[in-house]
Amino acid sequence: MAVNPVPVVKNPVRPKERFLVFGAPAIEEDEVNEVVDSLHTGWLGTGPKTHQFEEDFRQHKGANVAIAVNSCTAALHLSLIASEIGEGDEVITSPLTFCATVNTVIHAGATPVLADVDPATMNIDPTKIEALITPRTRAIMPIHLAGRACDMDVICDIARRHNLVVIEDCAHAIETEYKGQKAGTIGDYGCFSFYVTKNIITGEGGMVLIKDEQHAQRVKVLSLHGMDKDAWKRFSNEGYKHYDVVAAGFKYNMMDLQAAIGLQQLKRVEQYWLRRQEIWQRYQEAFADLPIGIPADPEPNTRHAYHLYTIMVDEARAGISRDDFLNAMTAHHVGVGVHYLSIPEFTFYQEKYGWRPEQYPNAMRIGRQTVSLPLSAKLTDEDAEDVIKAVRTIILGAD
Ligand SMILES: *Cc1c(COP(=O)(O)O)cnc(C)c1O
Repeated sequence: MAVNPVPVVKNPVRPKERFLVFGAPAIEEDEVNEVVDSLHTGWLGTGPKTHQFEEDFRQHKGANVAIAVNSCTAALHLSLIASEIGEGDEVITSPLTFCATVNTVIHAGATPVLADVDPATMNIDPTKIEALITPRTRAIMPIHLAGRACDMDVICDIARRHNLVVIEDCAHAIETEYKGQKAGTIGDYGCFSFYVTKNIITGEGGMVLIKDEQHAQRVKVLSLHGMDKDAWKRFSNEGYKHYDVVAAGFKYNMMDLQAAIGLQQLKRVEQYWLRRQEIWQRYQEAFADLPIGIPADPEPNTRHAYHLYTIMVDEARAGISRDDFLNAMTAHHVGVGVHYLSIPEFTFYQEKYGWRPEQYPNAMRIGRQTVSLPLSAKLTDEDAEDVIKAVRTIILGAD
């Protein structure tokens, strides 16, 4: 892909020394102290802090079982494998997601099938799912994009009628709720990410919530080499215990060093959510009069996680192309993101599956117009005002 030069802006809204990094996490002294405590005890790998984090997260979500892993990608992969989805199977997901969602289906040996998104919610359009179901279809993987709840009643109803597994990609959706149910507890599995840009972070890290006890047992074993007892128990003061290997498992376990950060971050999940909601609403007011698209209000009876605030820059309306807009924001020293170019835009999927962006026109258009603005709990009021000023200056042509 061609990289456009960053335009020179005479009087940028924000000084260069204070470049606003997109998705910078809020990290506080409690996290520092908890990590130092791990280092002092010497237990760096999967141990007491990981188990505590699993229990805290499980309780927070009101889930049946929570298993900590080293990424959301691992969580998605394990959910598929634990459901015995593989060669010859098909999994329906959205073309408007991070590549990891689709890649895990391929890692499992199955074939991803894409259903276009709804243009307003940008989530998988449930009315497009049913026509794609074949005798090989085994699962649906909805993504609560930007933190907006998918229409889970319709998705779960389709799944029930066709005997499909539902794996929720909750990478954006820790705080998301749908009709009183928490995201990740509605389907069979809920997969979360604690990557540095997500709502709470552990650096790298993930969690999988599981409804069924047997599936949970499989996920547990598969997450650590296929061994039937975890290291923490093996080396504990209960004495050495031999392990058996019951599957060719993966090295997907979370470390206590990561869990140490997560334990403290989870305590602030609501506080951070409130702060992002405040900024989200400030952006909504500040951009309402501009010739750009702004997010739809959250659907009634749902709770938006406010993970991403995205605007749509349509060149015909805004007078600037999306990519020029991205560069102009950078020139104003404001970091931006794109979530996401639709999956069929990428070479690998075009070559392997013959997909073309035009086959999924809603995802294609959104992917080519969307811009994510900074929305971290770390943002000060002044940071948010600088973002607003930069957007208004660029769109109103005062640049
Ligand atoms: C970040 C993300 C993932 C992957 O999360 P990791 O923890 O980095 O593996 C998957 N799906 C979506 C939608 C994401 O945004």
